[in-house]
Amino acid sequence: MSELLGKLKEINAKLANFTTISELLYWDMRTIMPEGGFEAHANAMDYIQTESFRLSNSDELFEILKGLSEPEEWEQLDDMWKFIVKTMREDQERSRRIPEEVFRRAVAITTESEHAWEEAKQASDFSIFAPHLKKQIEITKEIKSYTHPEMELYDALLNDYEKGMDSATIDRIFSELREGLVPLVRQILADKQPDDSKFRRKFDTEAEKKVQKYLLSYIGFDWERGTTAESEHPFTLDLTCSDVRVTNHFREDDVIDPMFSAIHEGGHAIFEQNVNPEYKDTEAGGCSYLGIHESQSRFFENILGRNINFWKPIYADIQKLQPELADVSLEEFAREINHVQASMIRTAADEVTYCLHVILRYEVEKAIFREGVAVEDLPALWNSKMKEYLGIVPKNDAEGILQDMHWSDGSFGYFPTYLLGSIYDGMFLEAMEAELGSVDTLLADGKIGEIRGWLNRKIHWYGNTRLPKEVLQAVCGREATAQPLLRYFREKYARYYPNVKNLK
Ligand code: ZN
Repeated sequence: MSELLGKLKEINAKLANFTTISELLYWDMRTIMPEGGFEAHANAMDYIQTESFRLSNSDELFEILKGLSEPEEWEQLDDMWKFIVKTMREDQERSRRIPEEVFRRAVAITTESEHAWEEAKQASDFSIFAPHLKKQIEITKEIKSYTHPEMELYDALLNDYEKGMDSATIDRIFSELREGLVPLVRQILADKQPDDSKFRRKFDTEAEKKVQKYLLSYIGFDWERGTTAESEHPFTLDLTCSDVRVTNHFREDDVIDPMFSAIHEGGHAIFEQNVNPEYKDTEAGGCSYLGIHESQSRFFENILGRNINFWKPIYADIQKLQPELADVSLEEFAREINHVQASMIRTAADEVTYCLHVILRYEVEKAIFREGVAVEDLPALWNSKMKEYLGIVPKNDAEGILQDMHWSDGSFGYFPTYLLGSIYDGMFLEAMEAELGSVDTLLADGKIGEIRGWLNRKIHWYGNTRLPKEVLQAVCGREATAQPLLRYFREKYARYYPNVKNLK
């Protein structure tokens, strides 16, 4: 091993330690930290992140990466180290171009903006948030002018969350989907809706916890290399591929939401637990492409979990663990988990209308960064799109434009990754069935391990080393398309809503 590669490995090990420490602090803050622990946690977090930022932008690392890129060093690297050096160098070059003053200003703007968003949401008053949103948009533009001067602004933002994906592709697949989906949703909503009264009772949250444990084990969560806790909003955290944690939120008034949060976060975790262990603690390990990551959580949650066949081998066990479901037949349960309704809140939406919530946000973001629509005009734009796509209009800002926190911390370009995940899923399902046969049959036979094994081999194993578009080519042999997802929706929902059969 060359001396330079040895030095890079040392720095990587330090950076991995910083990440472990700051993620543990985050985990603690979101799960069991008492109120009084906030200041010490926040200080420690700030300290560790500053040290990590310094090291990853240091001249020392810059020189090592530059040296390793010289032909005589480069040729000695294997493919994994070539990927790591190339990625770290590119990221460092971009981030070193941000002047420190600009970086500090961005941090301050975000802190204030997050605070203003919380206040605005509480008061349901967009005018409280508007001036901060304006600042957040301006500082975002300024930062991107340093980091990505060669890219169109909104494409540069998308690139932060789904590397290599561009708005031309997203425009094409989202409009494909929107054109098929708007009439499909109208047909569904005009149809008879199921009776959901059996789900409006109180559920034992201790039983919900047992159900979560059962479901995580069933889908293949590895308890030797993972654990769980409770938090306000469910999330997955990977300390390394051998320590991946998920959280959940258990509710007396809702038995379904915790089940599907468990399966969703479990899908994220199974991805991380199955990345090639050689990549551990490097840029190659884990998966930082949110669309691809989301495709795996959503594959487990929606494609598998919302399929009646998923439950056939296990529903009797679930009824034993959660006795309030004793009088709910499997058919009634399947209807409820596939209950499509026009609703205001993205995170509570079913898998079909969810897509339209994301398309709306994508279009509003483009209106901000491409068309320069004034911040003051955004609530009206939001409401008119809700009317157009879902036929409903928010009665206030809290259930409209203020519902998500993403824009308050400058996460513009994040939303589309949720829907990219579902679109990829349609494609993965098609490719999987071509190789393994009917997923309905595999699920009904309890062979979920075969499905998971396919995802492990085709997707998870490669971690970061394949970009999203490369994953689609490798797994599906084609470019992104929304047609398989639309086909899946039409076939599946014709079973629950006979109106859908009338559609071509
Ligand atoms: Zn997710």
